[in-house]
Formats: sequence, structure tokens, C-alpha cells
Amino acid sequence: MGMKKAMTLLDDLIQNAGGCAVIDGGLATQLEKHGAVFNDSLWSAVCLVKDPDLIKKVHLEYLEAGADILVSSSYQATIPGFLSKGLSAEEGELLLERSVKLAVEARDSFWDSVKSNPGHNYNRALVAASIGSYGAYLADGSEYSGHYGPDVDVDTLKDFHRRRLQILVGASPDLLAFETIPNKLEAQACVELLEEENVQILSWICFSSVDGENAPSGESFEECLQAINKSDKVNAVGINCTPPHFIEALICKFKELTDKPIVVYPNSGEVWDGRAKKWLPSNCFGDDKFESLSARWRDLGAKFIGGCCRTTPSTIRAVSKVLKESPH
Ligand SMILES: [Zn+2]
Repeated sequence: MGMKKAMTLLDDLIQNAGGCAVIDGGLATQLEKHGAVFNDSLWSAVCLVKDPDLIKKVHLEYLEAGADILVSSSYQATIPGFLSKGLSAEEGELLLERSVKLAVEARDSFWDSVKSNPGHNYNRALVAASIGSYGAYLADGSEYSGHYGPDVDVDTLKDFHRRRLQILVGASPDLLAFETIPNKLEAQACVELLEEENVQILSWICFSSVDGENAPSGESFEECLQAINKSDKVNAVGINCTPPHFIEALICKFKELTDKPIVVYPNSGEVWDGRAKKWLPSNCFGDDKFESLSARWRDLGAKFIGGCCRTTPSTIRAVSKVLKESPH
């Protein structure tokens, strides 16, 4: 599919969804609810090896809850990550393809089961291939600090992302979702890579933020968005895995900094302690809060809203309900 046709598909989805498309919620969170255990640097990618059917089941739960966009299980799935676990490069590549395939299969079977029901309220979902940041692969919390150290330059990051990007593109998702990008350097690397590889699939680039104002590196979003704004290979920008109470101000900021559609999929507001590798309780938001915030974010101009870590199908059900029942 050409970029133009794909853009139309995306615009139609936003329109059919009432002006704002709903992204799914936390994948690992829901896998864990079903009993999956992640005590591994591969995190939810472990499930790609051990229990792919469970991933598909969670995708189906999010579709049922009203997600218009499924994000694949490749966030922390990387070739070097798989190699470090003793898998071959070929096996790693097959697992990356599998992550997209599982989401596509879930989408297709769900759509087949609902499309002929009169009065159903679903859209045919799109599949976004998740591309986690370099920090997510390092699994040392640097996706929330943005500090990759003096030895990491733009070429290091392009080398890290290139093969996975090629494999994911080859698996034909509808979208590429760069997630939890913590600094300007990695945003630039992603843009250069999309250009160099002449990628013909839509993409978004989302940053994390720990202070609600800047990228985790401390760089301003104005700096971070420079390369993105110059490229027509990036079709939307935004924020993921950031506490919900920062989102309103960040949407307003992004509106001033870019003409691209804005994506937000915050976490539940609990705080990830990267060093201890656990969630710290904080002023946690319930689904009802998320729901009323979603309407506000949509009214401020967000075109894609969903959830990241610690959000569940019930969060997404609430978001979908409020966005679709009171369209903008
Ligand atoms: Zn997250």
C-alpha cells in the first residue's frame, strides 16, 4: 500500500472513531493478569517465545474493549536481546514477524466475527508494530532518563534499530509505533532511518516525559521535534508511558510545536522504579478518571488516545465508551 492510501486509511479510522482513534492499553500488564511472569530483560517479549496464544488473547480483549489500534508485542523484542538469550538471529527475526502476525490475526478474526452484526460499534482496527527505544532494550531504566552515555551516537542508535525495523516493515503492519523515546538523538536516529530505508508505512514517534515538560533527557520537546517536523515519513507524534496528569499540558505544548496529529497513551500514573524494576504506588488513577481525562485530551486536539503500562482492557473500554458516545 502506498503512503497516500495508508494516510487515507488512518484519516478514515479517526473519522469513523468520532474524531479520535482509541489505542489499546498495557500489554505486559494484562499478560501478567493472565499469569505470565516476566523476570527477564526481554520482559513481555518472553511471551512471544513461550506463549504466543496468550498475546493473541490479550489483543482480542483490547479489540473487544473498543481499541481501534493494536500495538504489537515487539516493544522489548530485539535481535540483540534474543541473541543474548541464546536464540539465533533467524529465530529472533521470526519472533519479530510473529509479533505483528499475532496482532493481525487477532484483528482479522475479531473483525470477521463482528462486521456483519447489525449495530456493532467497532471499527476494523489497525496494527501498529511497536519499536521500543534503545533504553527499553538496555532494560536499565534509561528510557526514562534519556542518558545513553558518551559512547552512543546517532549511528549507534540507527544500527540498533535498523534490522528490527526492516523485519517489522516486512511483516506489513499498518503503522510503526516508536515508543518511549527519551531524547533528541534517538528521535533523529528514527527519522533518519525511516528516510534511509525509504519506509512506506505510516509511523508515529512518541516520547516519554518524567517532568511533564521536557523529554527525560532534559532536552526541550522543541529540540526533540525538529527532525520529526522536517520529515514527511513521520505521520503523528506524541507521548506515551507518562503519568496522566502531565498529558493536558503536553498536548497544548505539542500543538504549538508541530502540525502533525498528536498521539497520547499515558500509563496509569504509578511510577516505575527502573533500578528496583517494580511499580511504586502513587496517586493512582482509576478508570473513571482516565475516562474523563480522555474526553478532555480529545477536546484539546489529540487524535489518538490509549493507555500504556498498568492500563487494562477496562481502562480502554472506558476510554472508547466516552470518545465514541460523545464524539467531538
Ligand atoms: Zn508504558
